[in-house]
Amino acid sequence: MGSEHKKRVLSGMQASGLLHLGNYHGALANWVKLQDEYECFFFIADWHALTTLYNEPAKIREYTRAVAIDFLACGLDPERSTIFVQSDVLQHAELNILLSMITPIPWLERVPSYKDKKDELEHLDLSSFGFLGYPVLQAADIAIYEAAFVPVGEDQLPHLELTREIVRRFNHLYSQTLPEPKEIVTPTPVLPGLDGKKMSKSYGNAVYLSDDDESVRKKFMSAITDPQRQRRNDPGRPEVCNIHAYHKIYSSKERLGEIQQACRTAEIGCVDCKKELIEKFFVNFADIRKLRRQIENDQAYIDQVLSQGAEHARQAAEKTMTKVRKAMQLR
Ligand code: SF4
Repeated sequence: MGSEHKKRVLSGMQASGLLHLGNYHGALANWVKLQDEYECFFFIADWHALTTLYNEPAKIREYTRAVAIDFLACGLDPERSTIFVQSDVLQHAELNILLSMITPIPWLERVPSYKDKKDELEHLDLSSFGFLGYPVLQAADIAIYEAAFVPVGEDQLPHLELTREIVRRFNHLYSQTLPEPKEIVTPTPVLPGLDGKKMSKSYGNAVYLSDDDESVRKKFMSAITDPQRQRRNDPGRPEVCNIHAYHKIYSSKERLGEIQQACRTAEIGCVDCKKELIEKFFVNFADIRKLRRQIENDQAYIDQVLSQGAEHARQAAEKTMTKVRKAMQLR
């Protein structure tokens, strides 16, 4: 597992859906690299998933397993990182309660993603205490491991700032020093969904790491390209095309230049351009998808990784909780 001399990194992913390419390129691929430099804790946030899917616990259970498989298939290594499920470490809940006592409600109401997510999921009743308190649980997730760094995309920076504010308030009130986590801002390629909106499980526009060949083909072939390119002979505009955004990741620089040129002069049609992308996607993800299929059939291995990870995480979390309880004069 982690080395004592390395700084600690903590990050998690919600078990509220299957992981898609946006999750991979926006987070997972970076996490895999962080394992070389840091002592990493990566968790599957099933309690966070309950803030929105509170009426679908069976789905959360299914997604928790699927996310674990994706983690392992993508290269998170249980020999180097602690991989676990949030609800296996009850100390997260204890610290969540304690931090909720000192977090003013207006701090939570002003988090930009609170309103954004409510709008995005307007079909759900999200007027719960748990949904509003999501950032407190997130602060507990981070503080409980005394993480030095949290890898985040630009859009999550306000959340991390709120964690720091909560930690500062705790330290001020109880003369206890929980470290203030710093961010590692991860380079996130702009990867639209197949319809051009942000790739999201809520929009049904995602390619999942668990999709089979047939689904991948269908999804890419039905992706929206340049809406002005109605006929094969119309010149295209790669800069507005979703397929081009994927070529930017999966094609070489040289080939990308050729595609852009061929698109603008209508030498290449969208069907051929998509087919080329699909083949490149399969090459890029061949190892991950193969490993995914193997792990999927090895429940004993998944259980072993998660229980070993939870054990290690509990030990680390309990160390922090001992200090926290003492600082708050709890028995
Ligand atoms: S040729 Fe390729 S880049 Fe150009 S509009 Fe069609 S799919 Fe997009």
